[in-house]
Amino acid sequence: MVVEPRASQRKTKAVNREPQDGCGVKSSMDLRVEFLGVDRASRAETAFIARAIERLGEAVADPRFLDAVASADYVETRWTPLHGRWRALTGAEIAERIAGGVERGSEADRVLELRFELADLPGPESGKIVLGSTALGCQPIHPARWFLERCRAAGDAVNLASHFMHEWMHVSGFYHWPDNTARGDASYVVGRIVRDTLEPRYAAEIDPQITALMHDVETDCGCRGNPPGGIKVGQP
Ligand SMILES: [Zn+2]
Repeated sequence: MVVEPRASQRKTKAVNREPQDGCGVKSSMDLRVEFLGVDRASRAETAFIARAIERLGEAVADPRFLDAVASADYVETRWTPLHGRWRALTGAEIAERIAGGVERGSEADRVLELRFELADLPGPESGKIVLGSTALGCQPIHPARWFLERCRAAGDAVNLASHFMHEWMHVSGFYHWPDNTARGDASYVVGRIVRDTLEPRYAAEIDPQITALMHDVETDCGCRGNPPGGIKVGQP
């Protein structure tokens, strides 16, 4: 099944872009995050999302962040363009894509853009941990309300920032393979680097139970629209 973004999700970037030659790993200081809004959220939920976006902005502007992305160990780095075949990106290519703030189908503008709509999904008491429901390459991101509320109750905007980075990677075209239970891929590793970057400043804020929930048990990040299974490395 080919998943096409809805017309409203295709974006046109501003024309007065900066030159592309500075979009390398060293340009992290210029990189920022823009919160484009959230639907179906209370004022308190919106405020907490804004705080996590602020944390994420700090992380990606940290001079160590893109270097860590470029040099990290990845189990898997599948990325798929809007049209055409997937390929595995190198750490340097992943860092370059993030440094450009390149959502899938858009051009480099050095802004990571995030739009949200909260989803009322069953919580962990249902027996399955689903953190959200997001379509590959598409905005808005749909975080599960229970997960946002858990982060908000704990005051943990760092893990929420880490989750937002993970989801932005899907917006940029990275996907889990063979399914959402995969680990160690570009979305997971870069999400984790966000938390590691923020940890020295915000260690007291990080709730270890939420960290464990996100990384140590089987969760479904809710990414939808991955290219069909059965594609093997080295096969067309
Ligand atoms: Zn995911």
